[in-house]
Amino acid sequence: MLNTNTPEIQFAIHAVRQASILVQQIQVEMIQTALTKDDRSPVTVADFAAQALVGYLLDQHFPNDAMVGEEDSAVLQTPEEHQTLAQITKFVSRFTKGATPESVCAWIDRGSAESAPRFWTLDPIDGTKGFLRGDQYAVALALVENGKVQVGVLGCPKLPSPSGRRAGDEGTNNGSIYIAARGQGAWAAPLADETNLTPIHVSPLTDPTQARLMRSFESGHTNVGQMDYFSQALGVQAEPVRMDSQAKYAVLASGGGEIYLRLLSAKRPDYREKIWDQAAGAIIIEEAGGRVTDLHGQALNFGLGRTLANTRGICATNGVLHEHALKALQEIIACFLTQ
Ligand code: AMP
Ligand code: MG
Repeated sequence: MLNTNTPEIQFAIHAVRQASILVQQIQVEMIQTALTKDDRSPVTVADFAAQALVGYLLDQHFPNDAMVGEEDSAVLQTPEEHQTLAQITKFVSRFTKGATPESVCAWIDRGSAESAPRFWTLDPIDGTKGFLRGDQYAVALALVENGKVQVGVLGCPKLPSPSGRRAGDEGTNNGSIYIAARGQGAWAAPLADETNLTPIHVSPLTDPTQARLMRSFESGHTNVGQMDYFSQALGVQAEPVRMDSQAKYAVLASGGGEIYLRLLSAKRPDYREKIWDQAAGAIIIEEAGGRVTDLHGQALNFGLGRTLANTRGICATNGVLHEHALKALQEIIACFLTQ
């Protein structure tokens, strides 16, 4: 059972939910005009505003805790971004007391900490391209202690809750929230009612040929050629599902897919995963009964700074299929290395 009286769990759910509502408001109010102008300002405003809001809430609930967040305020303090900072401040002031351009920058910069024995890691908007397209994105917050994720929360404003998905209830989709705490399982709720928690579990599928694969929407974030070889190696016919952000982890954790790979793009073979892109999703998969490692089966270490410096890519599965997936990956990776 999830102990929702724990201050850390309470804070994480509250912060992610508030930040999700804030970015939804920004999307509705700003994106129509932006799309006609090829303008990225809604995502800029939403990214910074969400990080400021979580920084503000962290100051209130855990003033001594460090935060490692994706954004910092340096660019907002330049004269060119004066208007952007004013807009961010306007949105953040709906959810906070004492929002000024200065305090907003200070709240954002709560996220500039280096790794510590205990810290929070935040992606204020994971999947910015999905956010702009009107597709999936997530607000991701996790508590890391001694390199291990202890609590993870994903706000997915565009993803129906698992019960809504089963009922084909896309029409009334108001988003969902996913919560996991070490040893306490993984849970989902509609974003509109975070008290309505139901436990989630990975799919029990054991036949690799039937596995539903998941990958980044953006081809530059993975390796599409290797993904094809992977499907062939497993005997999977169906095309992988393309989706932005850690919403993929939420879908897999609630039984809507079996294997999610982040392969190394040919253009960025040395890319190291950012901790805020994986921490919340990884604990949600594990607590839902699945497994998450790198592409070589190594455990992820979240205590090495802002990236997963020792590991390459991600292989997340329903657990049962993990060894199948790793074996196929080793064959493919060896084959690409000898080319
Ligand atoms: P996704 O939508 O799953 O591709 O995840 C989006 C995240 O991919 C962004 O938050 C980026 O931090 C990250 N990203 C950016 N470039 C790369 C890359 N070359 N390889 C893997 N991930 C990347
Ligand atoms: Mg991200």
